[in-house]
Amino acid sequence: MKETETLALILGVIHVWESFVVVKNGSVVLRGAGVRGSLARGGMAPDAPGEMLPALRASVVYASVLPPFGPVLALQPWPLSMSAEGVLPWIAPGPGRAAAAARPVLIPWDALRAVDAQGPLVVAGGREVALCVSEAESALLADLLERIAAAAPEARADAIRDAVRARYGRAAAESRIDAVRRRLPALLVATNALFVVLAALVLALAGVHALRDVWPWFLAAFLPAHVTTVVLARRAHATLHPRAVSERRKLTWISALAPLTAVRAAQAVARDALAGTEPSAAVRVLCDEEAARRFAQRTLADLRTPAMPSEPSDDAAARRVAAWFHAELRAAHEEWLRAEGTDPDALLAPPERRGRASPATYCPRCRAVYELASGTCRDCGGVPLVAFA
Ligand SMILES: [Zn+2]
Repeated sequence: MKETETLALILGVIHVWESFVVVKNGSVVLRGAGVRGSLARGGMAPDAPGEMLPALRASVVYASVLPPFGPVLALQPWPLSMSAEGVLPWIAPGPGRAAAAARPVLIPWDALRAVDAQGPLVVAGGREVALCVSEAESALLADLLERIAAAAPEARADAIRDAVRARYGRAAAESRIDAVRRRLPALLVATNALFVVLAALVLALAGVHALRDVWPWFLAAFLPAHVTTVVLARRAHATLHPRAVSERRKLTWISALAPLTAVRAAQAVARDALAGTEPSAAVRVLCDEEAARRFAQRTLADLRTPAMPSEPSDDAAARRVAAWFHAELRAAHEEWLRAEGTDPDALLAPPERRGRASPATYCPRCRAVYELASGTCRDCGGVPLVAFA
């Protein structure tokens, strides 16, 4: 293999590598579906990748190896439970998240006066309280926990209720999405132009041309595309995440030094733009009607019938906090569904029986139909089956 061919191959491999995005466990990911993916209404598809890399507490999602390199948004379902009694580093399983740490220990509010965000982790008194999907989310959660801890004990339950409902706020989500929509198109033009220039170089090198024949042409096209990408990425980041100064510095340096990473700058800039938004609410705004209905249905099924085991431990206080918070999440989700014009009971109507022989039952969580008179659903860890009415 000639040197130029080897170089072309290396560039190709790096590009394919860059098309996989690592996301923390518990993430709900929204990806652009095809060319319409640049945050057009109905242009994105939700995905809850679950746990694929246990050692890294992360999963990998495939973005796209081909243009237009639209955004990949990471959304955060609640990573912990809380009540007026304290915070429990545990949450019932749901879209994107398995049940967290076994035997969690309840942390009373008085022990949460100083809460820190360390990367995606929320830490209090040297103990991990939650693993978030991004630094933006861990900063928001740390602020919230400190605020509730500082409140009067009798005000805490209401503060938690308000926080749960605030994440469904449609106006806030839409204004964040509008900000991304305003900033992203110019950046996408620059990143895609950069990709075309790099792809042309790879094709030229893989063909007959030696590097010395093509470099003047390459530099003349590459430098403007690359500089524009870095400048626009930095500006878009400053608008969308004004407080994340060190993250912006990192993004600028990496984009400047690694042009193949700069091709994905729109993903890096937009990824945490919806921090603080409930996944169901974001899906409702960005995905098509059917995807939003299915996601809301899945979330509701998990809230009404969580996958087993749906209890944190044998500890009575831990169970009480988990049950109280779970009931709040369920109430908030059902209130939001009704406000959006969806009847929660109709959403979870029994699945189609499709002419199956009796006896037939179904799983209320994953909605699989069984030809059994009774039993449990193995896929859902032993959720009891329900008979058709
Ligand atoms: Zn099931």
